[in-house]
Amino acid sequence: MPKVKKASKSVIKLVKGMKDILPNEQAYWDLIRNKVNAAAKDYGFQYIDTPIVEATALFKRAVGEETDAVSKEMYSFVDQGGEKLSLRPENTAGVVRAYIEHGMLNLPQPVKLFYFAPQFRHDKPQAGRYRQFWQFGFEVIGENDPIVDAQMISLSYFILQELGLNVEIQVNSIGDDSCRPKYIKTLTNYYKDNKKDLCLDCQKRLLKNPLRLLDCKVKKCQDLAKDAPQTVDHLCDECNKHFTAVLEYLDELDVKYNLNSKIVRGLDYYTKTAWEIVETSEEGKLNALGGGGRYDDLVYLMGGRQTPAIGFACGVERVINKMKDVKASLPENWRPDVYVATLGPEARKKALHLLLELRKEKVSVSEDLAKTGLKGQLESADKKGARYALILGQKEIVDGTVLIRDMENGVQEVVDIKKAVKEVQKRLEHHLIAKVLKKSK
Ligand code: AMP
Repeated sequence: MPKVKKASKSVIKLVKGMKDILPNEQAYWDLIRNKVNAAAKDYGFQYIDTPIVEATALFKRAVGEETDAVSKEMYSFVDQGGEKLSLRPENTAGVVRAYIEHGMLNLPQPVKLFYFAPQFRHDKPQAGRYRQFWQFGFEVIGENDPIVDAQMISLSYFILQELGLNVEIQVNSIGDDSCRPKYIKTLTNYYKDNKKDLCLDCQKRLLKNPLRLLDCKVKKCQDLAKDAPQTVDHLCDECNKHFTAVLEYLDELDVKYNLNSKIVRGLDYYTKTAWEIVETSEEGKLNALGGGGRYDDLVYLMGGRQTPAIGFACGVERVINKMKDVKASLPENWRPDVYVATLGPEARKKALHLLLELRKEKVSVSEDLAKTGLKGQLESADKKGARYALILGQKEIVDGTVLIRDMENGVQEVVDIKKAVKEVQKRLEHHLIAKVLKKSK
């Protein structure tokens, strides 16, 4: 055995606010990815990947310079070539940039895209809040009809519901260019007299981003927000008509929703419909698992022609935390069909070939060839839940055979090694038929 050096160097730790996704969590990630992919297929969305790094100007212009995500939380840097770049704090801006840059305006509209990707915000880390976190999101670009708003809301709702979460939608309309400026004035007037009662952040927001006063989490700000003028009472005819239609369509769908005038969303680009997908905690607190909204001006703002659009994003880690809380069911863990166990150097060499053959025939296999003791190997086969073990010892090598052991009942049979793969396949087929028959009874 080579001499093992004792640890003496300092350990470099995970960056604050970041998170390793360890193998024991991957079943959740697989399940969510699968659900998202299946929903995308059913609803006709195509997958898009955009770079993690974009020009800082993209987010300043799209998300808004005064938003927390851009002004306080963005990872920005100047690269070796002097370019001002940022890690994306959200994905819609990148998707819209790609839509314009690749001429998707000329494709049949709407263009329906989805992503599953990491985002970065230098926020204060706490439970369920990370500095790198993943979102899956859906965007429909090039459609104005309120029926699409209702469909997107229901899509966001059903994905989370299918993951075993008891969610509901909080929905609002925040108007557009023709009604919002007037509303903001009314809102600012309401707060002016109470300015000193607001938290320091909200005192700044009052000047720069007054809508955000409504969804501040500080208790005294929430108390003031209770009586604040509501966006829905200040919508222009067009926004009012649109919102009424969205709610009518929502009534047709089996979606649990509530009107909530405090949903204003954090990012500047939203217009008209805004919603959050929330889950109610035991203490009655609303936890946002995702959110979305219309962004009818964003394509124009980014240099394209005026193009209506709508999208939503859900936070994967938050969804997983919730799934764990409610003990949502996960698909059965992967189990190998066959475990190959060996005894002796010749058997180990032979096993390398046998494993290749099994893999080629799409039989799922497992092994611990570096282990020499048969007992330990069979224990490992058991732990991994293998259905059969193929055992190769010195005697089998001499005879040109292999032992097939049924791991459930311990029954062993000797078979010709040349027929080993076929024999395993035969047994697996029987196993499958028996399982189907049992289920159908
Ligand atoms: P937003 O882009 O802010 O509308 O966020 C959409 C969803 O992403 C939220 O509802 C959360 O589920 C998730 N999310 C946002 N920020 C974080 C964060 N810092 N850490 C984890 N999840 C987040």
